[in-house]
Amino acid sequence: TSFHDLGLSSALCEAVKNKKWQEPSAVQQKAIPSVLEGRDVMAIAQTGSGKTGAFLLPILQRLTQEKGKSGFPLALILAPTRELALQIFENVEFFGNSVSKSGALLIGGVSPVHQMKALQSKPDILVATPGRLLDHIRQQNLSLDSIKYLVLDEADRMLDMGFWPDIKKILSHCSQKRQSLLFSATLSDDIHLLSQSLLRKPLLIEI
Ligand code: AMP
Repeated sequence: TSFHDLGLSSALCEAVKNKKWQEPSAVQQKAIPSVLEGRDVMAIAQTGSGKTGAFLLPILQRLTQEKGKSGFPLALILAPTRELALQIFENVEFFGNSVSKSGALLIGGVSPVHQMKALQSKPDILVATPGRLLDHIRQQNLSLDSIKYLVLDEADRMLDMGFWPDIKKILSHCSQKRQSLLFSATLSDDIHLLSQSLLRKPLLIEI
């Protein structure tokens, strides 16, 4: 199977080639076609499995297919730590560049002023840790009304770190009309409960 076979556009396939990814990993093979179809997905996959590409590539493609004035930001990717958010953001910049989509990174530990400027530039994709994202919402620096694509990455770690109340608040700001993707290394009872409050008829992928 090639990235092209999974339904990705030639622009994204070209970017993947430039990244020296020769063929899709298992989680990418399973998730990409379903995300392109608009389905909600719950994937049990470890770090190193290629999970970032599994959610980011099809979301970028769907963003290029959005018609008319659909607002911004359209996609929100939540991660438990600054390090992970930064890694995801680097991929957003690399792959987003190939399809003219932009991102903003909202994490703690850095000045919010710079982040406010990034928000004013109307990014297509937000990559955020929950605490800093909520700070910006409270200060009315952004609204999540326009979010059509939501990703929770390393959801089990987010729950372990006590982010459930923050996640619930963030979800309450997002439109119900959205596609949601949940990535977790483990499938616990808590993750199952989270998936029930977040996902609609999800495809379950276990790697
Ligand atoms: P992730 O699980 O998304 O954190 O990715 C782990 C590492 O694998 C990163 O360095 C990616 O750049 C790399 N990677 C992701 N997908 C592929 C692929 N299809 N082929 C080769 N490397 C990949």
